[in-house]
Amino acid sequence: MNRLPLFLDVKARRIGVIGGGPLAARRVETLFRAGAEILLAADELSHEFEVLRGKFRRGDLADAEIFAGCALCYFAPEDGAAPDAELLARARAAGALVNVADQPKLSDFIVPSVLDRSPLVVAISTGGEAPLLGRMLKARLETLIPAGYGRLAALAGSGRAALAGKLTGHGARLRFWERIYDGPIAEMALAGDEAGARAALEREIAACEPDGSPRGATRRGEVYLVGAGPGDPDLLTFRAFRLMQQADVVLYDRLVDPSIMDRVRRDAERIYVGKRRSDHALPQEEIGELMVRLAREGKRVLRLKGGDPFIFGRGGEEIEKLAEHRIPFQVCPGVTAAAGCSAYAGIPLTHRDYAQSCVFVTGHGREGPIELDWSSLLRPRQTVAIYMGLAHLAVLMQELQRHGADPATPVAIVENGTRANQITVTGTVATIAGKAVEAGLRGPTIIIIGQVVRLRDTLNWYSPKTEAKHGDAKFGDE
Ligand code: SAH
Repeated sequence: MNRLPLFLDVKARRIGVIGGGPLAARRVETLFRAGAEILLAADELSHEFEVLRGKFRRGDLADAEIFAGCALCYFAPEDGAAPDAELLARARAAGALVNVADQPKLSDFIVPSVLDRSPLVVAISTGGEAPLLGRMLKARLETLIPAGYGRLAALAGSGRAALAGKLTGHGARLRFWERIYDGPIAEMALAGDEAGARAALEREIAACEPDGSPRGATRRGEVYLVGAGPGDPDLLTFRAFRLMQQADVVLYDRLVDPSIMDRVRRDAERIYVGKRRSDHALPQEEIGELMVRLAREGKRVLRLKGGDPFIFGRGGEEIEKLAEHRIPFQVCPGVTAAAGCSAYAGIPLTHRDYAQSCVFVTGHGREGPIELDWSSLLRPRQTVAIYMGLAHLAVLMQELQRHGADPATPVAIVENGTRANQITVTGTVATIAGKAVEAGLRGPTIIIIGQVVRLRDTLNWYSPKTEAKHGDAKFGDE
């Protein structure tokens, strides 16, 4: 390590910035956020400075005393040009530590890549050797450290004073904070419930033993109802991924892709509660009861569902039981099948020229095909996405025509959307049922009806591994 990392309090300290381009503007912005008194020296200012007006004072480069009192000076010459050597010497003579952008050899200090989750701040440096590598690493950390970590750090800060005299030493502090960071209080803070988290933390502090363990308390479990998206694991949200890492037990469906299950914490217990159409492995109430029981045992229960848990997912029904029994839970949305399938099939669900609205309906009722409000589905300039419609595809298409749909209306069926074995079959309201049989579709599928389907001809971008084998009849092909 050839430089010493530190975080400097610059509040009300004078800091010089020399340069009038975009880089200098970025420095002014950051320094202002850190509370510095900024002295800017430049002949001309680029347009980036317009929004920074009032945040800095201009200095006169001809003034021999310009850098008096400056703790630090940032030189940001345009396009990597050499800094004015005489100015550099003047800054140093005034006692300032200097930084020259992208020139570590000329710099007393270098500017790290910063991940700001204030009060949590991560600064990365490669000692000036590979700044782009530092930036790449920062992008990775962005995904690992969710925005809510700032809230978590602030929460911990708020509890420190109250905890000060209560714990016996470092080991006790470690025990206490590990429990908080790894438990429901941290989860509450990360999910945005700051008031709830603060109140719960106060209770924990009030009820903790000097060695940091909870006074006679048993751990309270909780439930995460998480949408896993339609299949491609890259479509998981950061929050879903994090909850998957900390669950003790996971309840999952048939529709949750195995590549997603691979990303659940290795030692978590796995319980299959999947269901096929009209063949429910576990009735909804039993799933609810099972979650209550597991949570009561103190477990963190992950209820993982395909797509989004609140879109034809019966997620609402499952968590009613939890609410009834006052088990803490949170809901994490996922990419719903209609959104995932349409994106990966190159079919925008709305488009200014073709559709101003889009409805999601289910093609399957409790007992066979559902009674749909056909006239509302047939509105012009509207896209219809049908979930669970394959089994009754022929009936659905006949009914649409019987209620006045143009038989030539384009239809696409996307099977295994977003997965490596995605298949898309296109046709019309009149032809699609036959084509689906021909292609041997088995589901899961989303049926997309409307003029937007035509856009696939130009917007299709995704090439799954199996599509070539099955062929993809273009709209209008017979
Ligand atoms: N909650 C889920 C939907 C559950 S209902 C969501 O928001 O996506 C189950 C139906 O979703 C399936 O019958 C099918 O119509 C659709 N579906 C789910 N995953 C799919 C996929 N990868 N490709 C196509 N359709 C899918």
